Amino acid sequence: MKYLHPELETMARPELEEYQLDRLKNILKKVSETPFYSNKFKEANIDISQINTIADIRKLPFTTKEDLRNNYPYGMAAVPMEEVVRIHSSSGTTGNPTVVLHSQQDLDWWAEQVARCLYMVGLRKTDVFQNSSGYGMFTGGLGFQYGAEKLGMVTVPAAAGNSKRQVKFIVDFGTTAIHAIPSYATRLAEVMAEEGYGIGHKPTKLKTLVIGAEPHSEGQRKRIEEVLGVKAYNSYGLSEMCGPGVAFECTEQNGLHIWEDSYIVEIVDPVTLEPVKDGEIGELVLTTLKRDAMPIIRYRTRDLTSFMPGECPCGRTHRRIARLQGRSDDMIILKGVNIFPIQIEKILMQFKELGTNYLITLQTVNNNDEMIVEVELNELYSEDYNEIKSLASEIRRQLKDELLVTPTVKFVNKGGLPQSEGKAVRVKDLRSFK
Ligand code: ADP
Ligand code: ZN
Repeated sequence: MKYLHPELETMARPELEEYQLDRLKNILKKVSETPFYSNKFKEANIDISQINTIADIRKLPFTTKEDLRNNYPYGMAAVPMEEVVRIHSSSGTTGNPTVVLHSQQDLDWWAEQVARCLYMVGLRKTDVFQNSSGYGMFTGGLGFQYGAEKLGMVTVPAAAGNSKRQVKFIVDFGTTAIHAIPSYATRLAEVMAEEGYGIGHKPTKLKTLVIGAEPHSEGQRKRIEEVLGVKAYNSYGLSEMCGPGVAFECTEQNGLHIWEDSYIVEIVDPVTLEPVKDGEIGELVLTTLKRDAMPIIRYRTRDLTSFMPGECPCGRTHRRIARLQGRSDDMIILKGVNIFPIQIEKILMQFKELGTNYLITLQTVNNNDEMIVEVELNELYSEDYNEIKSLASEIRRQLKDELLVTPTVKFVNKGGLPQSEGKAVRVKDLRSFK
């Protein structure tokens, strides 16, 4: 069978929209009984009886990360606390953590949804699935754990770090699929090679990689696929919606299907808050249709993406979003120019001479703000000073064309940049006035 949930994954659009509307009405009824949303709707002067089509959702106010913080920890519960069985919290990449409550029903559905994603990229109960992301409050651990178990795979909850042990598990248990954040996937490939496994060494059974939780470019994906000898699929999710499993690439590797039976998906201009056209980048806004303990209406994810036009050859009817461009708050403003770290990554990954780890530092020198891009140089690359110098100036030229500001490019040896166990820190802002 091609789909895990064929009746949902391939539902015709009109039917899917009817399904969404039905659930939207139920969820609105439910949240309007919570103090948080009843106040919010009152303030916005909106009555839920005015919501009769999917498009009417635009009449409803947004929910922001600030709302979640202000209602920490239990203020947004939509069920009595005795129904709550688990608390997760976001990684806190930007500011204080927020808390998300789950009932048993939420956990069951979340596992189904992750299982659907894993099935979509060809994983079956005969696979051995190793999860190298942190467990605990971070949803990438337990989220994938239960999803993979639901599919009946052998699961290896290796958790983050200890790369040698990670490699030993891959070899001993015959791991066929692994979940890793992009910055860790390349590290793992290095350690595998050191231990004598992988491309050019003793083969392993690894064939599939699930990568997500942080922005990465197409170039980075290709690199990871090459060094690990796997197919890598982009996985997107956020704690506020459940965790991983919100959107996932299919085997076409061309955009991520976002599960519209579980979410109403909008992409809006972050300034005007009006919907953008297909193909145009904006902020992803999600409304949960199935969450029980803590439904969220029109959540501003701050993640930037676009709708991909057209239908996917895989036959799934749920819309695809493009690779995530980063968060609106990742944006660097340097000398009045808006820059996203992913633009820099895209250029760097085109150079075979470079490794995958890089760090962008912003600093003020003599009242002048400048950008330094430090990037790893592959070991095998030349030691000829002139060659290295001309490589640096070519990279600088291409970065300038893309960014319209001229950074300083510095090379470091492999392993010379800090490696984080969790999400990678790509930007260090040391400017006097930000
Ligand atoms: P935090 O916001 O503290 O990092 P989460 O652990 O919930 O909290 O992480 C969710 C966020 O991670 C998303 O909102 C998004 O910014 C980022 N993210 C998740 N998956 C991807 C992906 N595949 N590509 C780019 N960014 C991602
Ligand atoms: Zn598809």
